[in-house]
Formats: sequence, C-alpha cells, structure tokens
Amino acid sequence: MRDLVPAQKEMFRHIEDLVRSILSAYGYREVGLPALEMTQLFARLVGESTDIVEKEMYSFQDKNGESLTLRPEGTAGCARLAQDNGLIFNQTQRLWYSGAMFRYDRPQKGRYRQFEQIGAECFGMEGPDIEAELLLMNWRMWKALGLEGHIRLEINSLGDGKDKQKYQNALVVYLADFKQELDEDSQRRMETNPLRILDSKHQRTREILDAAPQMTDFLGNASEQHFAQLCEMLDSHALPYVVNPQIVRGLDYYNRTVFEWVTSDLGAQAAVCSGGRYDGLVEQLGGRPTPGVGFALGVDRLGLLLEASFTSSDAADVFVVSMGEAARLQALVIAEELRDALVNKKVTVHCGGGKLKAQLKKADASGAKLAIILGEEEIASSTVSIKTLRESQAQIALAREKLGDYCTRYFHTG
Ligand code: ATP
Ligand code: MG
Repeated sequence: MRDLVPAQKEMFRHIEDLVRSILSAYGYREVGLPALEMTQLFARLVGESTDIVEKEMYSFQDKNGESLTLRPEGTAGCARLAQDNGLIFNQTQRLWYSGAMFRYDRPQKGRYRQFEQIGAECFGMEGPDIEAELLLMNWRMWKALGLEGHIRLEINSLGDGKDKQKYQNALVVYLADFKQELDEDSQRRMETNPLRILDSKHQRTREILDAAPQMTDFLGNASEQHFAQLCEMLDSHALPYVVNPQIVRGLDYYNRTVFEWVTSDLGAQAAVCSGGRYDGLVEQLGGRPTPGVGFALGVDRLGLLLEASFTSSDAADVFVVSMGEAARLQALVIAEELRDALVNKKVTVHCGGGKLKAQLKKADASGAKLAIILGEEEIASSTVSIKTLRESQAQIALAREKLGDYCTRYFHTG
C-alpha cells in the first residue's frame, strides 16, 4: 500500500482539482462509492476469469460470514449505486467518483496495491457522441495538466456480444496451432478468457499475435458503423488517436468502444486512463437494458508523469513570532485576524516559544515574505514589528489595528 508524503499528496490534489473542474464543466456530478462491496458484485460484473477477480482482490469474510471485497475498481460499484438509487430508469446520467482502489498487484513504479482513481460513468446514452465527448474531456484534462505531449490515445471496438464471440472463436482456432509456444498465463486463458491473451506482454506471445485475426474484421454492421462514426467525430475535432485492434481491456463487461490513454514514460505501466462501453452492465444488475460508457484514470501514474515539472507550494506568506507569555497568546489572536483579512495566504504561527533568533530562522526557512514580531514592548504599546524577509528594508513598527491593511496592501502590490 502506498504512503503519500505531503509533496505527493499536494500533487494528487493538484491533479484532482484540475480534473474535477473539467468534469464539472462537462456536467458530471460526483457520487460517493463505498470502499467495500459484496464480493459477488465484482465476480459477476468484472468477470470470474479476469485478472482482477482471479488474483487481485482483497476479499474477507465479515462477522456475519458475508464475503466482502475492498473495491478493485469503480465501474461495478457506480453502476450498482446508480441502479439501487433510482438514477438510471428513464434518465441519462453523467457521474464521477474518486478514491482509493485496492488490488493485489505486483508493486513497482506506477503499480501499487492501493492506488487512486478518478472515474466517470455515463448511463442512458447510446453514443457514439458520448464516447467522443468523453475522449475530448480526457484530452482537455491532459492539456490542463501539461501532459498532452506524453499521452496518446488508442481505441478499438469489441463489437457487440455476438461479434465478440465470433472473433474469440477465430482467435482460439488461430492460437491453437501455437499453444505450446504461448506463455503460461496465455495457455490458461485459452480456456478461461481468450481475448485477454491480446493483453499479454510476453514477447513470443506478442510475435504470434502479430499475425492473428483482427477484431475489426469481425464487427457486425451496427458496431462497425458506431465505430466509424466515433472515428469521424474524433477526426473532426483533430483529436489524434490510433486504432489498435489488440486493445481488449481486462474486464468482461465491455462491448463496442474500448480505449486506453497510454504513455511511453512509465515502462510496462503504460495505461494512464482506460475505459469503454458497457451496454450490458445495468441489465446484469437486474435493471432494464441501459447503455453505459465510462473511464477511470490512474492518479498515481499521472503523478509520476508530472513529478519532474510539479513544484509543491508549501511556503508560508506570513510568519508570526513572539517573545514572552503575553505575546505568545497574542500571536494566535493576530494570526486569526490576519487570516480574516488576507485571502488565500498562509499564516504560520511559531508555536512553542524559544529565542527570537531561532524563531526568525524558522520564519526565513518557512518561505514567508513577512515576519510579524511580537515582544513585550509591542504588547505594552499595542504595536507589532514587521520584518520583510525577502528584501532588505528596515524593520518597521505599526499600530496593531493597521496590520491587516498593511499586509493586504503588501501582498496586493506584490
Ligand atoms: P494494467 O494493465 O496497467 O494493470 P489495468 O488494465 O489493470 O492496468 P484498469 O483496470 O483499466 O487498469 O484501471 C484504470 C487505470 O487505473 C489504469 O489505466 C491505470 O492508470 C490505473 N491502475 C490500474 N492498476 C493500478 C495499480 N495497481 N497501481 C496504480 N495504478 C493502477
Ligand atoms: Mg491490472
């Protein structure tokens, strides 16, 4: 599980703030998903033979003997939430969530057992316009983060249920000739989940796959048209993408459009955001057939891409120091008044007493531009002393009630 120290958490916040404001600009509304769901929810919706369910879930029995699982992803829970709370029938929804996901993955750079996702899920829209909108929104996010040069879009269509089945059969027939040469996981997947073999990172398997039948040749008319329209929409917005017929996504619920935003900067942890269409999901939950489409982005991986360029801003603006008991009390009062007077400025009080020199050293190290000094003299005369820390100016004394105005003006005129 990953620890986030303040500088990392600030970067996560930075990403979340930008992503959140863009989601809001597209009319998405946030939902709060439980961290725990019944294990059955994931087993059924994500799929028994997927990596997530087969090997990555943190599951346990509660005191009632119920099998629960720490959410490994958000789509199943979000669809359940929407269905259980009457958000789906006869409506369209654009929803989003954020939070920790848990998978028993092999920890390494960009891959953790607790990681952060922001996900969006749309219900009731057949597309392909909603897919295009989702992808344009993603693109806007990468631009806002300054990452558009590091992330590229790959899309594919899985077709509808029947197309997917036909393709799967053709793939199995083709791969049967090479069975002994496939990696162990892929051999097993021949029985359990053949499409997942396309996801293999194993070199010989990849070579064999190069000549495999292509999914795009197996699409039925309806899904072929859907995909063509989506491509046309992306073209008309000059959104760059490539069609990668080997993108399958590891989860069972997808049909038609699937996509991944990938980077070359993080080794095997290439996907920073992935998603697709899942028109059968709500029905599997017992609802009426309802189209759905969504994505989840990995905040940890975006954070790694931003690391080089992001500087966290932990600097204070004003630092209050005090000498003596009475001043120590007043320091807190003055700091409160300054926080009332100043907008978006950080006011730090030196707590714990000590010599003036040591306190001023801390003031300097805090990055603050102004130090407010309160000693016995200042208390006696209802004044404060102000020392500018980043420019050489004589220390000045000021009537206490003028401090707020002084600081406001100081920061306003830079
Ligand atoms: P991968 O192929 O890298 O394991 P995935 O297909 O399992 O990814 P999804 O289930 O699509 O990933 O999750 C959506 C996003 O969440 C991914 O694109 C990635 O950015 C992020 N993600 C997935 N697993 C992890 C993890 N263990 N640690 C950090 N981020 C992750
Ligand atoms: Mg994975």
